[in-house]
This record gives sequence, C-alpha cells and structure tokens, in this order.
Amino acid sequence: MNSVHFLLKNPKFRLTMTGDIYTLLSMRIDLGVVKKEALPLDEKFNAGLPEVPGEVSFSGEIIKVSGGYELTGTLTGVYTLQCSRCLEMFKRSFLIPVRLMLKPRPTFKEGEMTLAEEELDLVFYDDSTIDIGKALRDEVIVNLPTKPVCDEKCRGLCPVCGQNLNKGECQCEPRQDSGAWNALKEMKKAIYGGE
Ligand SMILES: [Zn+2]
Ligand SMILES: [Zn+2]
Repeated sequence: MNSVHFLLKNPKFRLTMTGDIYTLLSMRIDLGVVKKEALPLDEKFNAGLPEVPGEVSFSGEIIKVSGGYELTGTLTGVYTLQCSRCLEMFKRSFLIPVRLMLKPRPTFKEGEMTLAEEELDLVFYDDSTIDIGKALRDEVIVNLPTKPVCDEKCRGLCPVCGQNLNKGECQCEPRQDSGAWNALKEMKKAIYGGE
C-alpha cells in the first residue's frame, strides 16, 4: 500500500483506513498519457477526515521525469480543529505545497521494505495507472497540526475551575507553585524577616 512510508515516518499517526475510503478517493491517472509536457490537474476530493469535513482542492501538474513521474501543486482546504489550550473548535484554512516523486514499485517482497529518509516524498505505483488520491490524502494527514491553538494569545483553561480564560477571569487564586518564586520569597524572608 502506497502510504506505508508515511506511516513509518509518523509513528504518532494512527489511522484506521478501509478500502472503501480509497475507492471513494480514487483519482486515477493513466500514466501513458503523461509525457514530458506537464499534464495540468485540477481535482476536488473529500479526505474523509473529521479534521477536514469540507472539500480539498488540488491544483497542480504531473510530468514525466527520469525514473518516474513528478507530481507538484498545492492542496487547499479548511481544517476544523480543537484548540489544545481552550478546547474550543475553530476553523483554519490550509495551503500545502506538494512535490511527490512517483516511481514504479521495486520488486522486492512485501515486508522487506526499508525506506531511507530522503524517500519520504516517494510514492510507488504498481501498473500503468496511479491513484494520486491516496497520496494527496496522506499529504493532508501528515500536515495536520499536532498541537493546534485557536490563537497564539489563547489563554486556555483555568487549571483549577476549568473556566475558559479567553471568555473572562475566574475567581481562583493565582497559582504560586513555582519553585523559583518560593525560593525568592524565602530569600526575602531571610533578608528582611517576616512575610
Ligand atoms: Zn484556544
Ligand atoms: Zn479558575
């Protein structure tokens, strides 16, 4: 399966994938029609991801190069993400530059595959057509933000009462659990005495 190398490179990425999704995503290109002149591509697809409920657009081209084909272009769409600080949902548009090398699958046996670092953007195909839908979906997945924040200034939740501090202050005492802060207080006490 074409996405195997992405899975290896991204151990945190756990995706349950069914054949159905790939069938839905089918975006097959007959490589026989791709010559040294670039074939322009304008595709829309649904990535079938909760983080990307809307359509993803791919605009680019495929061209024959030595040893295979090169797919270049940009993926655009909108992420729906949960802020890792305040837990609110928010939307953010994305633009992912894509540059993939497509090569015929080498003929070693399944399971022996070890892929080098520089081969991350390599996609294998098995016959004279290639389904770029899978590869493009993988690009969307590996570019998902791992710790999304709704805003760089997001203040998150109060660790005591859970109040969303972007929406207002809570009544909790500010925390004074910092070791450095306590050390300073102790020092002050030692010099000036008392509290
Ligand atoms: Zn937030
Ligand atoms: Zn609070």
